Amino acid sequence: MPKALVRGSINIDEFYLLPHIVRPGETIASTGFSRSTGGKGANQAYAAGRAGANVVLDAQVGADGAEVVKLIASGGVDVSRVRVIDGEVTGRAIIQRAADGENSIVLHPGANFAASSGKVDLEGYTHLLLQNEIPLDDTLAYLRASGKAGIKTVYNPSPMPSREVLAAFPWDCLSYLIVNEGELADILAAFDDTPLDAKLSVKDRAIAQMHALHGAKGFAKTVAIVTTIGPDGVLVFDVKGAHPEVAYSPAAKARKVVDTTGAGDTFAGYFVAMLMDKGDDAPIAELIPTCLQACALTVENPGALESIPARADVEARLA
Ligand code: ADP
Repeated sequence: MPKALVRGSINIDEFYLLPHIVRPGETIASTGFSRSTGGKGANQAYAAGRAGANVVLDAQVGADGAEVVKLIASGGVDVSRVRVIDGEVTGRAIIQRAADGENSIVLHPGANFAASSGKVDLEGYTHLLLQNEIPLDDTLAYLRASGKAGIKTVYNPSPMPSREVLAAFPWDCLSYLIVNEGELADILAAFDDTPLDAKLSVKDRAIAQMHALHGAKGFAKTVAIVTTIGPDGVLVFDVKGAHPEVAYSPAAKARKVVDTTGAGDTFAGYFVAMLMDKGDDAPIAELIPTCLQACALTVENPGALESIPARADVEARLA
């Protein structure tokens, strides 16, 4: 039975509506406030759970995290590996949203960056999903252990590690790299800084960069590269065939675009769930329509985690 572990972050996102972003030394009253559950680990685990996967989230919160953990569990995520860290607060994003649409964000990593037990436990798991919102040493320890155990590992490097870290990264331990077009460019820059024709479209630029990354010395040729390109859809470099090529799939049509927050996390979570469903030998192209339809439903609704759809709604739209 396929079983996935997400080792990642949990945040509480706090949104303050303001006439303008607070200036140094200034105090102003907010005109609105809302709170939601966030963190890429939480969002992606929730998406995998909503997609019907058997998924466990390994993460850390403070004593103030009970509510958010309950919400994550309601998406079908096993939260028995979420630890409450004494004397720490749950990771926080304090988001100032100005009347003119400008954002300003303070991130407090809180419990996400508190020391963990250091123990890597992958017993019984077939799949591992990682982002980059926990200490890098933890991410690396999980990656190396999964590589050794032959567990299929999906990595969504956000936020992006430094060029030095990327250049020395154990790429051969992962199976699938999921990035957006900006992240793809950042990773490639760690290996190859040959400039591309400035006139290329987002899609053609990403295709060229995926080929360059696949062939780069220091990257691993065994890693499938999946690049989401926002409203344009997704590009997949499946490395299973004899002559791997980049395949393009346009985004599923959203009925209305309300809020694109969480689209990338929906893709990653659904991707792992579909891998588990279809089996690791299935061509990646078979997983993509469900992932894209899930993303389209996410952008139709406000919020991040709250907007991630259930599998049944995704299937109904695909039918
Ligand atoms: P990220 O949030 O990581 O930058 P993207 O913006 O690339 O991720 O979005 C992930 C996926 O969500 C895309 O591949 C696409 O399928 C879908 N998506 C994003 N924006 C839109 C949109 N405006 N309309 C329809 N689908 C979208």
